Amino acid sequence: MNDRNKDRFDSESGYCRMLGHEVSFSYCRIARNDIPCFRIIDCWFERLPVADYMKENYTEEEQKSILAKPASKINTLYDLIQQAKNRSSTTGS
Ligand code: SF4
Repeated sequence: MNDRNKDRFDSESGYCRMLGHEVSFSYCRIARNDIPCFRIIDCWFERLPVADYMKENYTEEEQKSILAKPASKINTLYDLIQQAKNRSSTTGS
């Protein structure tokens, strides 16, 4: 494995449903702080062997974490509220 392999589809581009405009594969593969977008397989599998690309460049564990759907903002907010409630009930305030 090497970085040349990682950029082999960089010149490909397609419409991004999340952003609402055309993006290149080079963006999708680093969309989250140098980590691929979690939708990379869904968006590209019809045009590129993207599942193989992921297998070649990331371990199984990395793929699981990369492809996991991120928590929604509502869930995150709900979790924060629950944590605050739990804290206040244990401190009695
Ligand atoms: S992989 Fe992510 S950034 Fe790339 S086109 Fe799909 S949704 Fe957009």
